[in-house]
Amino acid sequence: MSETAAAMIRFDQVTKRYASGHEAVHELSFELAAGEMAFVTGHSGAGKSTLLKLIALIERPTRGHVTVNGQNLHGLRRGRIPELRRGIGMVFQDHRLLMDRSVYDNVALPLIIAGLSREEIAKRVRAALDKVGLLERERAAPITLSTGEQQRVGIARAIVAKPAVLIADEPTGNLDPQLSGEIMRLFADFQQVGTTVIVASHDLPLVKRMGKRVLVLDHGRLLDDWRPGST
Ligand code: ADP
Repeated sequence: MSETAAAMIRFDQVTKRYASGHEAVHELSFELAAGEMAFVTGHSGAGKSTLLKLIALIERPTRGHVTVNGQNLHGLRRGRIPELRRGIGMVFQDHRLLMDRSVYDNVALPLIIAGLSREEIAKRVRAALDKVGLLERERAAPITLSTGEQQRVGIARAIVAKPAVLIADEPTGNLDPQLSGEIMRLFADFQQVGTTVIVASHDLPLVKRMGKRVLVLDHGRLLDDWRPGST
């Protein structure tokens, strides 16, 4: 595969074999340009989560190379992982909010960890909540929000530090079809402002409707790489 200067995410013949001996992804190669959005789809167990974990270095490849923002993750020292992760917003199916903290505090968390000033945090948290349409709920406890709103808080937390890359693992897994569409469109909005977005979802009809690039995995192999405009 040829080197592209603007690639934000690059997989080069990546294989991941878990300690169990199971090969979750097999010789996977693809590139995602900076500012591009792609869905990863495929059956349960196809390797979607594993692909996302390899980007955030939650897992390391058994063979092959993953490059994020020009940085080959192979050999990246443990001490530099937090720096890598600061550049990657992550959204999960089960949003992982702190239920004993307000919406505001949940979204502020990554910025508090990064050591930003109180004023800067307030500015950025409100901007993030505004983007997901929850500015009026900043003092609410997450438990009082609907499932869709809770997922929006998770998305606000993922983008509050303005990461170059946004990854989401089945972000609509617990939502009804209408809310699922709204959440997916929210991800597309972040792509519009230059974020590289990669969303794993088994919901193929929803993914197709979005009209974005689709990587189809089957038993860890890239079965199809569909791009808008192609048939
Ligand atoms: P998907 O997200 O498409 O459902 P996953 O990436 O979660 O797929 O899993 C791919 C395959 O790897 C599955 O067969 C799964 O059981 C296996 N797998 C995932 N995580 C682990 C792990 N930590 N240890 C062993 N096997 C795993």
